[in-house]
Amino acid sequence: MKHFKCTHCGEPNYFENSRCTHCEYPLGFVARELELLPLIAQDAETFQIYGQDETLYRYCANHQYGVCNWLVEDGHSRYCEACKLNRTIPNLSKPAYLQRWKVIETAKHRLIYSLRRMKLPIIGKSLDPERGLSFDFLADGTQKRVRTGHMRGLITINIVEADDIEREMTRQKMDEPYRTVLGHFRHEIGHYYWDRLIRNTDRIDNYRELFGDERQSYKDALRNHYQQGPPAGWNLNYISAYASAHPWEDWAETWAHYLHILDTLETAYAFGLSLQFQSVIDSVNGVQEEKIDPYDPENFKTLMDLWGPLSFAMNNLNRSMGHPDLYPFVIPPGVMEKLSFIHRICYQARKSY
Ligand SMILES: [Zn+2]
Ligand SMILES: [Zn+2]
Repeated sequence: MKHFKCTHCGEPNYFENSRCTHCEYPLGFVARELELLPLIAQDAETFQIYGQDETLYRYCANHQYGVCNWLVEDGHSRYCEACKLNRTIPNLSKPAYLQRWKVIETAKHRLIYSLRRMKLPIIGKSLDPERGLSFDFLADGTQKRVRTGHMRGLITINIVEADDIEREMTRQKMDEPYRTVLGHFRHEIGHYYWDRLIRNTDRIDNYRELFGDERQSYKDALRNHYQQGPPAGWNLNYISAYASAHPWEDWAETWAHYLHILDTLETAYAFGLSLQFQSVIDSVNGVQEEKIDPYDPENFKTLMDLWGPLSFAMNNLNRSMGHPDLYPFVIPPGVMEKLSFIHRICYQARKSY
């Protein structure tokens, strides 16, 4: 993610801030520009952007709940580009649900930022019921349990995933090294873009060569996975045990990692942080290469050459603080090829935009 500086006072702010921590100007995010900008109030509801023309903006209607700081142009939709994708939100009469919704929205807004940066199509179901995207954020009922998942553009998230204790218990039960709300979004949106970028396209053969044939029974594959566990040696070809369950899950898991890597590399780039193993530095006579925006290179290897040292350093930083590894994964060569395939598709989509 970018590094946001208040254009009024120059102080850095987090993506989620609604007010500059230094000059206290209200801040709003303009999705079109991917910028968090200071605002000048015109009345209780409308604002102009500091230093820009007289266009009037207001906050997204979800700002009142403290879950969104994005702006909409006055007179346009009540909801911002990220929030208008919501079909169902939690029952806000329960305070715990409002808290969970905040966690969910924080992750979802970061996801939408990435999709914008990747120049992938983001079309709501209200505009395109067949191929559009929408979100249901649901709580378990007394009778019915909610399954996090994707179905023809509808992404459902069980809001219990926003509860740290519950999520950690599930993570341990499922024997996963990593489980976050943002990770869920990145996985489920992977299923959505499989439909957009692979299904019924001439990329399908290439996909099947790398990930396997998705026409095998999904139901049987998942049942086998939960009964028997992953095949021996799965970690040579899959990024996670779950990825080995079915070629669709392999795609979604690998896709999520591609987004983890891009976003984290962009954050490092935004802060001028670029790490290299000493041997690499020696081989270029101690000269650090120029900083690389991870959305630029066509060659996937360029990204991996940055990611290896950066993720190793981050894991060590976390260990210094007594935290678990930031990136508790090793990427085997088979997964590199899959990631490279995803990169190629996304790069082409971006360049043809
Ligand atoms: Zn400021
Ligand atoms: Zn919003």
